[in-house]
Amino acid sequence: MKTNSPPFRLEALPYPIELHRHLDVSLRVSTLLELAIERGLVTSGTSLELFSNEFLLKTPVKNLTDCLSKFELYQKVLDRFDVLERVALEAVEDCVREGLGGVEFRFSPTFISQYSRIPWLEILDGFESGLNKAKLKFPKFKVGLIVIASRDAGMSGVEKTIDFFLQHPTHFIGFDLAGPESGFPPRQYRELFKPLIEANANITIHAGEGESPDNIWGAIEDLGAKRIGHGISIITDSALIREAIKRNICFEMCPTSNYITACVIELSKHPIAPLLRQGLAVTLNTDDPGIFGVTIQDEIRVSQSAIGLSTREITKCFENANAHSFLPTVS
Ligand SMILES: [Zn+2]
Repeated sequence: MKTNSPPFRLEALPYPIELHRHLDVSLRVSTLLELAIERGLVTSGTSLELFSNEFLLKTPVKNLTDCLSKFELYQKVLDRFDVLERVALEAVEDCVREGLGGVEFRFSPTFISQYSRIPWLEILDGFESGLNKAKLKFPKFKVGLIVIASRDAGMSGVEKTIDFFLQHPTHFIGFDLAGPESGFPPRQYRELFKPLIEANANITIHAGEGESPDNIWGAIEDLGAKRIGHGISIITDSALIREAIKRNICFEMCPTSNYITACVIELSKHPIAPLLRQGLAVTLNTDDPGIFGVTIQDEIRVSQSAIGLSTREITKCFENANAHSFLPTVS
């Protein structure tokens, strides 16, 4: 689909930010290859071109196992303070190069520590050290960290992540719940989330990505979500659309990710366009740049060329991001 509006220019916006980017899967492919060879996980001498072709997901997956082995490689290389520091610095450099003025990074300590057993505080220190170096290099760039509780870590893992967040209130700008939705209805976390809600935490929940809009209802009503990660199934529930608009809930949409993970069959069918036109606060995001090989510029291109958003509509997405950011200085 082609639109007649002029090309969108991110640089023309005063302060473009991205709300939904996973720091623990945002490595440059060259860095990932280097770290993987260093650990004997990839054959020495493998070319960047060959590795990129084999590793990056560019076409829709047939099953989730295809995805899981990719995530495992990340888990196995994110094993030391200096690696995490480097990853955070490079991720900011990439965002600046893409034309962003700020970003909200999120990471799951459960995910990172699964193989390496690296202590959670060391993970946080490593990332923060990299972000502090980035701040010296790019003093105007705004960045904050959201901690993710992984559903597949069980109730105790979610509880541990909530405690970690509450023990380090100045280190995080928000809290996220992510991982497989099936079998993990939001309602079951209601009691655990009470301290977060009482602390007025900024809560965003991955919900309605490939599952029912009931999970979005639950995220909003039971878990106090101010934002929803993905939430594409809301398109099937007009009462929920009305409620989300009334409550001013923001939706962090990631078109390429939804296409590659087969949550939408065609990019042209992505619900971001009709939802935006109905008045929902939607935003554009990359999700997992290190898995899909995408930048925010790619998401903009796809939104314009395949989905058919106008320049004005893409601008609106970034205005929404500013209005709903958890970063203290841009909202
Ligand atoms: Zn995500």
